[in-house]
Amino acid sequence: MSTQQNTVTAGGSDTPGRPARDMQLPECGHWSGAERRHCRAVDSIRLYVIGHRCPLHTPAALQGKPEPQPGPGWPVFRQEQCS
Ligand SMILES: [Zn+2]
Repeated sequence: MSTQQNTVTAGGSDTPGRPARDMQLPECGHWSGAERRHCRAVDSIRLYVIGHRCPLHTPAALQGKPEPQPGPGWPVFRQEQCS
């Protein structure tokens, strides 16, 4: 007799590859040297090259420049599609 062992561990309990999102909302990562803390604002956070920033701490705002306005070819409502 041959005992064929099928060791298939297809358990549905463990789902690898699941991103750990929705655990933390994006917050402004601007470091306020005067207050010695991060801004950590969560309203109207947008992702810039330097990271997530609130409207007060965008790269343009920090340089005293007006925000770049959406123009032709610029994605007006750029949503982060997480699929
Ligand atoms: Zn901020």
